[in-house]
Amino acid sequence: MGEHHAGVNPALLFPLIDRHTHLEGSLDPGWVHLASDRRGLALPASLQSLWSGAAVPFEGFIEAFLFGAALLDSREAVREAALAVARRTRQAGGAGFDLWASPHFLVVHRKQITLDAFWRGLEEGLAEARSWGLHSCVVVDAVNHFGPSHGQAVLDLVLPGLPPFVKGFSTGGLEGCPFRDWAPIFERARAAGLRIAAHAGENGPGSNVREAVLEGDVSRIVHGLRADDATLELLAERRIPVDVCPSSNRALAADVDPHPLPRMLRVGVRCALGTDDPGVIPCDLGTEAAAARRMGLDDAALATLQQNGAEDAWCLLGEDSLPSALQSSGMPDSGPSR
Ligand SMILES: [Zn+2]
Repeated sequence: MGEHHAGVNPALLFPLIDRHTHLEGSLDPGWVHLASDRRGLALPASLQSLWSGAAVPFEGFIEAFLFGAALLDSREAVREAALAVARRTRQAGGAGFDLWASPHFLVVHRKQITLDAFWRGLEEGLAEARSWGLHSCVVVDAVNHFGPSHGQAVLDLVLPGLPPFVKGFSTGGLEGCPFRDWAPIFERARAAGLRIAAHAGENGPGSNVREAVLEGDVSRIVHGLRADDATLELLAERRIPVDVCPSSNRALAADVDPHPLPRMLRVGVRCALGTDDPGVIPCDLGTEAAAARRMGLDDAALATLQQNGAEDAWCLLGEDSLPSALQSSGMPDSGPSR
């Protein structure tokens, strides 16, 4: 399994980070089979279609995603989910990940786990990942289309006793609620020391990207696929990082073709690669780099993606310096084969 390192480009002096992946969407398919059998649950057709590489409507993706989320009903299951992310990252030669998670959905909406068990499961999984040399942090995700009162409820839940590994707050789901309405929630999260991201321009119009930046004052965009040229210039000018996830985008935003990543990089947008929901839409950091190459990106562009991926990663915040992060990631010889 050393091939990821054998061919390493000396220009890639930065640790490889999975810049966007969801806890609930990253479960190992083998574990999902076992856990659903144990609960007497049948796998939804949408999940099986996505595993086979088929495109499904966004609603079908949500069904598959929520099926996995429903399995996270104990500390052990949450720990296993975090470890699934860590294993996939390590096997692809990655050094860390920024992990989105939706505690409010599991704890309050579904009432399937206590907040304490959720945090403990995450803490245990991330501690084990750390012992493998992997960097990580958590971004709490709120559901955009549930609206601002839901956003406040998410913060009410997580802000008291917030674990130190939580570095950010984000919106996800359907882009159904204008970002100007989310601005007060973002402000409250920021005041509590969190950084703000938003899924924007994925299943909603490109104008959402501009609005998230100008009215929501978010410091990071997830996807941003439908942004127009003027908005890309705005993102470049303000150095707003954009997490791009080619496999997920192909499955969930198939109408955006060609993929805008090369255009984004050309105007100087600080893009980086992430896997989004690799337990639902099979991929890893290697498939995402290969997808970027198929878009016509060369070694230099791939190196830029990796550099941006490390420089803007929230999981490396507070690390002394990127070179030391590089050292502690164990490259080049603590790869996947342990
Ligand atoms: Zn996402």
